[in-house]
Amino acid sequence: MSIKNNLQLIKDSLPEHVHLVAVSKTKPVSDLMQAYEAGQRIFGENKIQEMTDKWEQMPRDIQWHMIGHVQTNKVKYMAPYVSLIHGVDSLKLLKEIDRQAKRYRRIIPCLLQIYIAKEETKFGLSQAELMEIIHSDDFKALQNIKVIGLMGMASFTDNKDIIRNEFTELKHIFDYIQPYQLDNCHFQQLSMGMSGDYKIAIECGSTIVRIGSSIFGHR
Ligand SMILES: *Cc1c(COP(=O)(O)O)cnc(C)c1O
Repeated sequence: MSIKNNLQLIKDSLPEHVHLVAVSKTKPVSDLMQAYEAGQRIFGENKIQEMTDKWEQMPRDIQWHMIGHVQTNKVKYMAPYVSLIHGVDSLKLLKEIDRQAKRYRRIIPCLLQIYIAKEETKFGLSQAELMEIIHSDDFKALQNIKVIGLMGMASFTDNKDIIRNEFTELKHIFDYIQPYQLDNCHFQQLSMGMSGDYKIAIECGSTIVRIGSSIFGHR
């Protein structure tokens, strides 16, 4: 199967309100261009250097999503162009994104990453930490970021019940937080679901799926 065919099959299976991020990490520009030529405009990368290299080489109408864990000292490299940062997990990081966005007179959209998996290795905030951040005066003062939703990753397991429970937990947090609105904070998007679990994620209320290997093949 070609990248184009894979992409078409996935797009055909997505409800209209669900956005597709084509996760292209480790793949060469020639592979990304096949997806681009098939109409894909949103790409997800997990390393800032690699994303920036690809951004420099590829057409300007692409929206680049940072889906990986972000180190504060690297925010400056993507601040000129990044469209959405999925994995924001601290106020410190939000402040740095805000600071860098200001330098480029931009407002950078962000998702706050929530910890739902029962694995120590995953990043993210608890619900209590999420509440603490968005209710803080420091957060309310940030004018160059906009939190537009939440992101989460389920446990790495074949057990569909565990995955469904974790996504459902995240949807509950999302529903709970949704009425809360500020100028810089409006929860509209829920990023959950990868190649192995995106169908469950959509059933559980996902609005953004991040799919790599089902489009580009195994890494
Ligand atoms: C790699 C990655 C994906 C895509 O994973 P696939 O299983 O290849 O679809 C999605 N989200 C994040 C955060 C990733 O790092």
